[in-house]
Amino acid sequence: MRIVFLGAPGSGKGTQSQRLVERHGIPQVSTGDLLRAHVRDGTELGRRAKSVMDAGQLVDDATILGMVRERLAAPDAARGFILDGFPRTVPQAEGLEQMLAAIGQPLDAAVLFDVDSGLLAKRISGRRTCQDCGRVFNVHTAPPPSPPPCGGQCGTPRLVQRPDDKEETVARRLAVYDEQTRPLAGFYEQRGLLRSIDAEGDLPTVTARLEAALAPRG
Ligand code: AMP
Repeated sequence: MRIVFLGAPGSGKGTQSQRLVERHGIPQVSTGDLLRAHVRDGTELGRRAKSVMDAGQLVDDATILGMVRERLAAPDAARGFILDGFPRTVPQAEGLEQMLAAIGQPLDAAVLFDVDSGLLAKRISGRRTCQDCGRVFNVHTAPPPSPPPCGGQCGTPRLVQRPDDKEETVARRLAVYDEQTRPLAGFYEQRGLLRSIDAEGDLPTVTARLEAALAPRG
């Protein structure tokens, strides 16, 4: 299964990706996570990307496409993948299409996570990531369980807020989404790949809608 998750920041793409990874055994490829790893490791790419990310803007298409090309060449992506937060612009979507056409592995679907814009800011402001295992929680809607979430893998969760989840940056990220990423719904609709889901509601409900949207159509 090769799928793209589309949706505004805070629409639940990352959380649902993590659930799908567990069920289907295909990797989540999050360009945001890949970029944050570069920032953490202090690579040249990470140093360039950090100020752009902190400002809530998009990293340039060539950098992103190069990073994705490298990631999709890894053995674990051979059976499929979930692209989370990529593509975010029409040139990225075109680049992906060419990349996959060249290896004869086209996308199966692009799922659009539909969430009321008023809810997005609240979801993002409550988002916390476990510094050890990378799992994402939400102090409003999906608080970390007690005892710790990672089944003992990482011990006591150390929850942190991403720098770009601060209120002042969130407004910019939502505006960038509207301008640059929202048009991708039309791009995938034209190709017959778009599946929209209502992404409001509790986690299992949204997961069930997602599974229904991804079920083979006959
Ligand atoms: P995310 O974790 O997907 O919300 O991404 C965090 C930040 O990383 C974004 O606000 C952008 O600055 C950058 N980023 C992630 N994915 C992309 C992408 N596909 N294209 C451009 N910038 C990206």
